Amino acid sequence: MWDDYDRRALDRLMGKCTEDEAGCWVWKGSAPGGQNRRRSGARRYGDISYRGRQVVVHRLAYSLMVADIPDGLELDHLCRNTLCVRPDHLEPVTGAENLRRAALARSGGDAWPNAA
Ligand SMILES: [Zn+2]
Repeated sequence: MWDDYDRRALDRLMGKCTEDEAGCWVWKGSAPGGQNRRRSGARRYGDISYRGRQVVVHRLAYSLMVADIPDGLELDHLCRNTLCVRPDHLEPVTGAENLRRAALARSGGDAWPNAA
């Protein structure tokens, strides 16, 4: 359900992203885990206030630009850049599938490696 609030929220969100050489829309705003992306360690997600709550930016971007995320699903970053909000780099998957893919990427099986 789009309204003016959603439109402004999306403007706000996209205003804090820059496109990198991999085509990712990289969030440059607040990220509680820190801005530095590393190959291991805690995942870093950006957050933004939306309707009075702090929400994860890539989930908000996906739900505003594509569709609501089905209950219980996580968004996997196909590009493995957890600060990327580009909807066509995101795919709703189960938590188990997301973990499986992350492990695969760590073991060097990444089909779409990003420049470090
Ligand atoms: Zn991306």
